[in-house]
Amino acid sequence: MMEFFDIKRIQKEKANLPEAEGCNRQIAELEEKRKEIICRIGQIYVENATEETVAGTAYEEAYREFKLAEEEMEVLEKRKLAVQGLRKCEKCGNILVINSSFCNMCGEKLEALFVPTKDNPHICEKCGTPYDEDTLFCTVCGNKLA
Ligand SMILES: [Zn+2]
Ligand SMILES: [Zn+2]
Repeated sequence: MMEFFDIKRIQKEKANLPEAEGCNRQIAELEEKRKEIICRIGQIYVENATEETVAGTAYEEAYREFKLAEEEMEVLEKRKLAVQGLRKCEKCGNILVINSSFCNMCGEKLEALFVPTKDNPHICEKCGTPYDEDTLFCTVCGNKLA
């Protein structure tokens, strides 16, 4: 009778051999390394990409998502400072009290932090908190609402 090899059973029984485990460890290490390299490639790509250079490529969608996440992060950074009564000068990075009109480091005129848009018409310009239409003062920063 021809011997029948149960491959699954053999694999299971011998998976714990030190040599097999050594291979597994190296595979896992290389897998990690591969992920790091993919990350690095992505980093280089986005640093050099613009909306024009990605248009029509396979990266277009991912690039847009990346940019949206970046914008959202910037808004959240601003809000984080604003709820602490602070803001950052966009020119020099100096941190100032939220009511400053000019940066005391570089002299930059400070514009409204949050600009209401058509989709989001009722947000406090100082701290970005949304408000109900007939509210007079922002409940977070006390700013008088238009
Ligand atoms: Zn400044
Ligand atoms: Zn506010």
